[in-house]
Amino acid sequence: MNPFRRPLIAGNWKMNAGGQEACVLANEVAAKTRRFDRVDVVLAPPFTAIAAVAHEVEETRGSIDVDEGFGVGVAAQNMHHLQSGAFTGEISTPMLRDAGATWVILGHSERRQHFYETDHGVALKTKAALDAEIRPIVCIGETLAEREAGETLQVIERQLRAFMAAFEPSPGFGVIAYEPVWAIGTGKVAKPEDAQEVHARIRELLAEVSEEVAEATRILYGGSVKADNAAGLLEQLDIDGALVGGASLDAEGFVKIVEAAQQVADKLAEEEGGPPSGQRNAGELDADTGADERDTGDATSSEEGAPPSSADGVPASDGAVGIEPDDDDAVDDRENT
Ligand code: PEP
Repeated sequence: MNPFRRPLIAGNWKMNAGGQEACVLANEVAAKTRRFDRVDVVLAPPFTAIAAVAHEVEETRGSIDVDEGFGVGVAAQNMHHLQSGAFTGEISTPMLRDAGATWVILGHSERRQHFYETDHGVALKTKAALDAEIRPIVCIGETLAEREAGETLQVIERQLRAFMAAFEPSPGFGVIAYEPVWAIGTGKVAKPEDAQEVHARIRELLAEVSEEVAEATRILYGGSVKADNAAGLLEQLDIDGALVGGASLDAEGFVKIVEAAQQVADKLAEEEGGPPSGQRNAGELDADTGADERDTGDATSSEEGAPPSSADGVPASDGAVGIEPDDDDAVDDRENT
């Protein structure tokens, strides 16, 4: 982690806790993470529980915590890129916002693997999420075969370039999650130094857009993160948090991961003079509401290099040349399957 990027710990509940149990879990997490004021927490329940979890989180944490600069955000695990229409079984961005989600996980490897999501489809969804002021957590990562073939960095680059080509990235546009597919749900966690190498490469690619984008973008690690391995990962310079699957279904274990992030952040702030407790990441939307604090006059929001957002809430271009897509990945209006 780095003292100038607020860590983010996101829980991906996958196809679990879609009913009453979601409220119990959300309540416990929201209540027990309240004291960790250097860490942003996001929960991603199934669609059926988004509204209930958003309500629960609001009840538990209230607006006071938001005023103090931290809170618990609610994410969807997927979305359609169009706003409405004859797409049976799909969920659009206005529906997510109505339900209380201001974040969305996109391109998770389980969706790429089981539901045939493509780089192109992920790009369409990322653009649509940003247009709707929903912050994307875009997942990228190599399979075991790709890793064994020494192709990890090429795969990461291809996936990153594909979705970044869909919009003009500006600081705080969203979050990237590096999730090696072989580490998801397997108990095999990447070695911290191996994960760091990939995260550093991702940041290097982001710097092709601009240094500000590279510095402000949070890059999470995902893949069998648990309370006992979180600190080692979070201590790496370019690992800004974690996307947690299985371990996020146990409130106690998940809270310990948030606590680990807080401890690393506390140590960094002490050693390196980071921002005082409770302040936000440079150039980011508010974790709970999606409201852009950069326009509020808040002293924490005017970090150098963070350009203002445009009137429609989509971060304005910083004028830098974006990462160019391969021709095959060019984004158009084609239907995503
Ligand atoms: C995930 O689903 O994004 C994930 C990282 O799962 P797990 O933590 O269970 O490996």
